[in-house]
Amino acid sequence: MLELGIMRQSSPGCFNLLPLGIRALEKLIRIVDEGMDSIGGQKVEFPSLINQKLWSTSGRINEVTELFKLKDRHGQNYILGPTHEEIASDLLSQCQNSYKHFPLMIYQITNKFRDELRPKLGLIRSKQFTMKDMYSFDIDQESAIKTYETVTEKYDTIFKNLGVKYHRIRGFSGTMGGTLSHEYHYEAEVGEDVLLKCIKCKDILNSELVQDKTCPQCGEIGDMDQTKGIEVGHTFLLGDRYTKPFSCNFTDKSGKSKNLQMGCYGLGITRILAASIETLSTDEEIRWPRLIAPYSVLIIPPKAKSKEDLIATESLEQLCHSLNQIPELKGEIVVDDRTDMTIGRRNMQGKRFGYPFIIVLGKRIMEDPALYELHDINSGVQVDLTLQDLAVYINKHLNDNNVQ
Ligand SMILES: [Zn+2]
Repeated sequence: MLELGIMRQSSPGCFNLLPLGIRALEKLIRIVDEGMDSIGGQKVEFPSLINQKLWSTSGRINEVTELFKLKDRHGQNYILGPTHEEIASDLLSQCQNSYKHFPLMIYQITNKFRDELRPKLGLIRSKQFTMKDMYSFDIDQESAIKTYETVTEKYDTIFKNLGVKYHRIRGFSGTMGGTLSHEYHYEAEVGEDVLLKCIKCKDILNSELVQDKTCPQCGEIGDMDQTKGIEVGHTFLLGDRYTKPFSCNFTDKSGKSKNLQMGCYGLGITRILAASIETLSTDEEIRWPRLIAPYSVLIIPPKAKSKEDLIATESLEQLCHSLNQIPELKGEIVVDDRTDMTIGRRNMQGKRFGYPFIIVLGKRIMEDPALYELHDINSGVQVDLTLQDLAVYINKHLNDNNVQ
């Protein structure tokens, strides 16, 4: 990502996202927004600057070591928010809550901060990162579990659509507290989480949850297959861990005041971006989940003043006109007009950047001006197609998942 100018480092653990990077990130944010919206999640924005008193109320101020702490000019202590359970509970505690108002799901997609001891792997372990954090509130445990299942099912849909092989595993609650949790991992060599696969029941587990080589799922004792993962999502059922200290209550049918039941659901947005590239790419060429590739189509016209150049102008115009008829390609087509460079060199660069479809106006149009040379990068297919067939092909394969 650094080599291809998708991002640049500003200081260790802090990055500038450049135009290709931000296009991919915004596509990913849209996918997550649509997903959360479809299950009734409502988007909000919490402050990144959090008054430390809130974290004293929850007791987490001394539990979490990777906090950025700062003071304002009046000596008031703040932290830069890594997660917002306290803020969400405090917000809800200020409302007149009736049992009729629930379940309620609020979420944000914002920058989060963590004072990493050793930032590394670019956006995978950085000091500032984009995260989607959703908080659910329910009137009892039964409905809280139902909400939890709704959200985790949607997570599965989102991960399946992105098309990168992932594992949903029983999670480790750590400093979050709570009763039930799941982690979502991409399998990757560079991952820092050790995942274990039970030889008997094939369940995948976080090594933190396995004691004495015993599978908590089936009880099998013995060695397990090991693989490494990058955690890209984490969900928790929190019970009243936060609603109790914040007196985050509602009035039930009989008029009694009770604590709300809470859940929280994180998706590492910049981490999904970096980890999916890490998982799909080779050392030489970047590959994107097709849904978040910065652009869908790269067109490479001939080198200036070449034989092909004389007849390619008309072909290029027809091609652009035809592709622009596909609504999903609006704003998704790039023409590499650096025509002082050879086709071969630009084609090689295009493949390195991982544009899902590359159309070359080269030798082929000399032989038959009606045929276009299409490279389907993710599947490795190269075909010569008429304009009409080309549009059909791209339309059909536009949202195909990556082959792994
Ligand atoms: Zn097992």
